[in-house]
Amino acid sequence: MGAMRVIVVAERAGGEVLSVTREVLACGLELAAHAAADVEVLVAGNRIADLVRDLARTCAARVTGVESAQLALYNGEAFRQGLLQVLKADGPLLVCLPHTAFGSDLAPRLAAALDASCITAVEECRFVDGRPRFVRAMFGGKLRAEIVSERSVTVVTLVPGAWAPLPRQRAPEPRWRIVDVQIAPGGSRTREVMEAPGQRVKLDDAEVIVAAGRGIGDPKNLRLLEDLAAIFPRSGLACSRAVCDLGWLGYAHQVGVTGQTVSPGLYIACGISGAVQHLAGMKGSRVIVAINSDPRAAIFQVADYCVVEDLVRFIPLLLEEYRRWSEKGSLQTSRTNTS
Ligand SMILES: Cc1cc2nc3c(=O)[nH]c(=O)nc-3n(C[C@H](O)[C@H](O)[C@H](O)COP(=O)(O)OP(=O)(O)OC[C@H]3O[C@@H](n4cnc5c(N)ncnc54)[C@H](O)[C@@H]3O)c2cc1C
Repeated sequence: MGAMRVIVVAERAGGEVLSVTREVLACGLELAAHAAADVEVLVAGNRIADLVRDLARTCAARVTGVESAQLALYNGEAFRQGLLQVLKADGPLLVCLPHTAFGSDLAPRLAAALDASCITAVEECRFVDGRPRFVRAMFGGKLRAEIVSERSVTVVTLVPGAWAPLPRQRAPEPRWRIVDVQIAPGGSRTREVMEAPGQRVKLDDAEVIVAAGRGIGDPKNLRLLEDLAAIFPRSGLACSRAVCDLGWLGYAHQVGVTGQTVSPGLYIACGISGAVQHLAGMKGSRVIVAINSDPRAAIFQVADYCVVEDLVRFIPLLLEEYRRWSEKGSLQTSRTNTS
């Protein structure tokens, strides 16, 4: 049996490796340190040599580009085929992916093909006698389970926000390679990836998320939240499931156990009660601001800043205050420039 290998599968959008990959890399390095293993990052795509080299220059792992014209856009069948050609399970293997739509689709495909155990939505690793125990929430966050893999090959997905992203460090000797793979035509082909309307930034890459709950009262009030989000350059609009069920926003915006898991720098929850199913998707956010008219709302238990107000009155006042403040700021700047 060969030595343990830890593989991190990078998530990419166009010519960019998404920041969640550096979180998975941080976990991969932690697992590798306990197993005295090597870490390798796999990036699947087409004509990605520049991207692979850039990533290798800024991280302490070997980076392999898995290349084929069929891997330009994400397709579960094609990515499974391509990655398996590099992932040959000839020894103990731990494959780590982000717990995003990409990772949730790809992980079980890889696990089935590798006859591996598949442990999803991992939030923490504990080590007992050097063996990892993967910790994940169960029953909508009411319980936490420790799961041990009984196979030599294990595929795990990691909840965004559970690990701090690995800082960019200059690698003294970047290690990278490109492997060309052959993809046989499958049952499906991805022709185009389109952004959901109104989604200026993908939620898992947004720095600021403004989220709507049923408490907004009327879909017309979404405008207030959009104006609030527009203050921040990399922002996105999210919501609770109640808002999707009411048809006020599409399910692409939903955060929670049955929606997206997000970990922005700032999450502004507007009229959201804080049900466990919603908290499970956003509690990894760095700073949480909650605006809710009910002082006993559960969201206040996880919020860093609690605003007990009617959002329909409070947000316009906040926007007005911001407008006054930014005008004053630009006035002062222009005065400085002309003096
Ligand atoms: C299996 C399962 C999976 C689920 N998955 C998810 C999921 O992924 N994501 C998710 O979000 N939910 C999920 N849910 C639903 C979840 O249990 C809650 O029902 C939902 O999150 C409630 O949404 P809400 O907070 O917007 O609405 P509510 O619970 O109705 O809360 C509205 C809040 O707005 C406040 N409010 C009212 N008016 C105002 C005002 N004018 N100004 C300020 N505040 C005001 C109220 O005080 C209240 O706290 C799931 C449920 C189940 C059973």
